Order: sequence, then C-alpha cells, then structure tokens
Amino acid sequence: MAYAPTRPSPEDRQKVFQSTRVVTPAGVHPAAVVVRGGRIARVAAWGDIPHGAQLVDFGDAVLLPGLVDSHVHINDAVSGPDGLSRSDWEGFSTATRAAAAGGVTTLVDMPLNCVPETLSAAALAAKRAAAAGKTYVDWMSWGGAVGNNGLDGNEDELAGLIEAGVPGFKGFLVHSGIDGFLWVDEAQLRKTLAVLAGRGVPLLAHAEVAGPVERATSLLGSADWRSYTTYLASRPDEAELEAIALLIRLAGEFDVPIHIVHVATAEALPLLRRARAAGLQITAETCPQYLHFAAEEIPDGATEYKCAPPIRRAANREALWQGLFDGVLDFVATDHSPCPPAMKNRGEGRFDRSWGGIASLGLALPVVWTGLHARGGGLSPLADWLSAEPARLAGISRQKGALTPECDADIVVFDPEVVWTVTADDLHFRHKLSPYLGARLQGRVLRTYLRGETIFSCEEGFGSGAAGRELRRDA
Ligand SMILES: [Zn+2]
Repeated sequence: MAYAPTRPSPEDRQKVFQSTRVVTPAGVHPAAVVVRGGRIARVAAWGDIPHGAQLVDFGDAVLLPGLVDSHVHINDAVSGPDGLSRSDWEGFSTATRAAAAGGVTTLVDMPLNCVPETLSAAALAAKRAAAAGKTYVDWMSWGGAVGNNGLDGNEDELAGLIEAGVPGFKGFLVHSGIDGFLWVDEAQLRKTLAVLAGRGVPLLAHAEVAGPVERATSLLGSADWRSYTTYLASRPDEAELEAIALLIRLAGEFDVPIHIVHVATAEALPLLRRARAAGLQITAETCPQYLHFAAEEIPDGATEYKCAPPIRRAANREALWQGLFDGVLDFVATDHSPCPPAMKNRGEGRFDRSWGGIASLGLALPVVWTGLHARGGGLSPLADWLSAEPARLAGISRQKGALTPECDADIVVFDPEVVWTVTADDLHFRHKLSPYLGARLQGRVLRTYLRGETIFSCEEGFGSGAAGRELRRDA
C-alpha cells in the first residue's frame, strides 16, 4: 500500500500573534505567540516566525491572556414551574457579548439569580439548555449550596452537581435577595463542607452575616435612605468580619478550599493574611467597584452604585489595592449583577428599595488598569488578577489563564495608553444602567481572540457566531 501524506487541515495551519509587549508568566517582553489548532503551541522570540505561518503583527499593542471572570450573574435559564423567569435581567447572549468586548474569554455563572437556581444536576441541565448556541465566550456554572436550620438544604445534591461538571459551589451567609436561594448558617455550612471534603472543589462564600446588618439597620431609625451614607451604615464592616472569621475557623476543620467572594472591607486583610500564613486553604477576590469608587463620591439617590457588601470609603479603597499588591487578595472578579432598570428604583433613589448589584461586565480590564497604572503598577498583575488566578479557582489552569503552551489561544489585544469616556454604546450587556457611565478610563480592548479566532474587534464588532463552549475542570 502506497504511503499517502496527510495534508494539513486549515485547523492545523499555524498562526503567529506578535507584539513587542506580550504578557506571559515570565513578564512583559517582545514575543511571537505560535498558535495551532486553537491552542498555544509555543511562545517564541519576537521575529521567530515558522515558515508558512500566518503572521498577525500587533506592533506595540499589549497581548494579554483572555480574561476569566469567575463571578458573573447571567440570570438566564428556562423558566421555573410557576412561570417565573429572570432572563430579561441579562441572558447568555448579551452577557457573553459584553464579555467578548471586554477581553473576557471565560465566564463562570453564579447559581443565582437564574431560574431555576443551580441547586441540582437537573437545574444545571436547564441552564445548559438555555445557553445552547448563545455563548460568544466559554463558560461554566458554579453550583449552589443552600439551606439553614434544616430548611431545604441541598447537601444531597452536591455530589451529583460535581459529577455533572460544576467546578465548585457558592453559598450565602446572609439573605441572598432571592427567596429561592436560602442562606447557610454554621450548621448547614458544616453539612456542606462535610460533603465537599477531599473532593478538591472550592466553596465560594458571600461573607456577610445578618446580625451586624440587622443591629446597624435598627439603629438608623428614620434616616434618609436616599443618602448613600445611610446604606453604608446599614452594612457595617463587622458583617463581613464575622463571616470571614467563621469561614476561617471552618477552613481549619475541613479539607475544602474556601474562597471569599467580593471582599469589600480592608479590615479583613489581617485575618486573611494570618489564615494563609497558617497554611489554611483560603483565597479571596475583590471587585472593580471597590477599587474604583469611594463612598464619599457617591451622590444621593444614585442607586446604580448599590451592591452588597457596599462600596466603602476612599481610605478602605487604598487598603484594598495594597491587599492586592501584597497578594492577600488573590484576584479581581466583577460580580456583574444587573437587573431591569425599574428595580434600581432610580426615580425614588432610596437605597433600601433598590436591587443590589452593579453592572460592569466587560469593563474590568480598563477599570483595573486605570487604578493600577495610577498607583505605579505595570502590566503583569493584570494577567495574574484577571486571568491566571480566577482560572485556578475554577480548576481550568491547564486550559485558560496564561499565554503558555497548551493553553487555549485566548488573547486580548489591549491599548494601555488611550484614555476614553464610557458611554452607553460601550456597554454590551442588556440594561445600560451602570455607575461607570461617564467614567474616564485608561486602556481599551482592541480585539479579542477565542481559540485563535476573532470574537470581537473594536472596529468590526463581533465575530460571526456564538463560538463559546462549556468548559470542564482540568482532568
Ligand atoms: Zn454575586
């Protein structure tokens, strides 16, 4: 039988993405990223272009790994048995387009406020049906861990959810705002952690407890709820500190990685620092809104700034930045949590009668870069905070999070010098109500590649189709 050489398929044709500023785990340097079959084959020296490869030269534009946003509320799924649906709050199509435009190539969806909440393998299947054919970037979904005082705990569903592919679980230590997603008390946390022990998947915790919130709120009496100061006073630092202290205590008892989502109080940093020094499996994120805004600057009635825990004061903001620089805070995730504009109740402007959640998907890179650059930082932390570390939390470090061989060729082309003002046209999520409208930001995404193919270009818009896939944790 004659030997017939196989012709290389178009998929095998090598592409090379070249720039004088490529951000890899080794730093920022001139390089040529060689891509084959949608994955990074190698990172070569600048000018080292394989024969026959298709060269894309970006000059001095920065090449970063595609961002991984591990905290997003997409709010999509089929409707529940009573016909309830929150798909009009956001949705897979709009959320993943906003992500693509912001250089985010992987999203991890929260187990609420979708309907049904992602509390069982069947609910995950419903979410997958809602996502089918609609995702412009890759995605995964966290499972939910719920129940308190013996009410509707889902500890029996957790193993099934892991089997079905969730990379970890999210639980609230305080009312979530969604009646279908019960908060967990210490007893339920213990049941949850006992099931998760030794399985290698993290528990993500909304770390506020109710006691300090209720006490502080009862002291406010007839305070003016149009004032941001009133809202801030209703959610004191102690609510976060008590919750984090409990989680640290439990991390010492159970073999489960515990991740604190959206740390807003810098007073928690010494606790976290000590816990990590003691070798506990504790990680933590903060969010762009806590790094960019300050309570003193929030106008009365501006409910688009409401989120929980709340944006705190300027001195706290500076301490959070220091926490990131020191590595006590591991990374930045958006907690993009939109709702229909009417629920923000902007007309009345009362913070107690407004949905809590900030819409920011797609803005994390310029927002974080604006603050980082202003504080004398370089480009490398962007890759760690917005890509590598969240990828590690989601268990996908071998697929995502760095410009290194074997990872998917998810690449963001970023202009770090341009300064621009955010308008509604720049927001690609469903409802264009965001505290970032009018913000002056430094740095802009020029182009986003998913597995070596363009999914967004600032000049041409979005790529030809919804090329996103659901990911599974690294084997
Ligand atoms: Zn959230």
